[in-house]
Amino acid sequence: MATTVSRDVVAELRAAVRDIPDFPTPGILFKDVTPLLASAELFRLALDAMAAPFRESGVTHVVAIEARGFIFGAPIAERLNAGVLPVRKPGKLPAATERIEYALEYGSGSLEIHRDACEPTPPPRVLVVDDVLATGGTAAATCQLVERVGGIVVGVSCLIELGFLHGRGALAGRRVETVLAY
Ligand code: AMP
Repeated sequence: MATTVSRDVVAELRAAVRDIPDFPTPGILFKDVTPLLASAELFRLALDAMAAPFRESGVTHVVAIEARGFIFGAPIAERLNAGVLPVRKPGKLPAATERIEYALEYGSGSLEIHRDACEPTPPPRVLVVDDVLATGGTAAATCQLVERVGGIVVGVSCLIELGFLHGRGALAGRRVETVLAY
């Protein structure tokens, strides 16, 4: 008789995220996902968990946020049979761009998207993907960028949520799904 071994996937993923104190600046506890990425099995489980809530959402494009968002965003797009639209730091995208300035947990930043990224008709139904949801500034700015160029934001999917920074507040009214909450 086959035995079913139940696994606590969330606990396994959590154990593969490393805390690095005072990186990149004093006072920040950095969530380092590189041990999780280094495990083929845990990486696959993380991608499955991040994609699952949006399987029936009609996502046509994943917007992946530079840089760690690229690592998760592209394979999630493949799982959802969607395309990838990169959102990058200024000066990296080759064609005409739309830019947004925003505040983040440590400092401030700017992000750009190609102006024609969401031109196809009907408008793309976009899932925004990043590794960590902290204050929500990055994800909120990305949602605004997508909407400015004509996309429809279906939701936001992040592996990690730092609940004490209330990132969901910055994304009020949007669907936000995360796998590991701290
Ligand atoms: P925020 O805009 O504050 O939600 O910050 C989210 C962005 O900054 C994501 O792209 C994360 O990769 C990165 N980030 C912010 N805080 C942390 C943290 N404590 N550990 C790892 N990455 C972080």
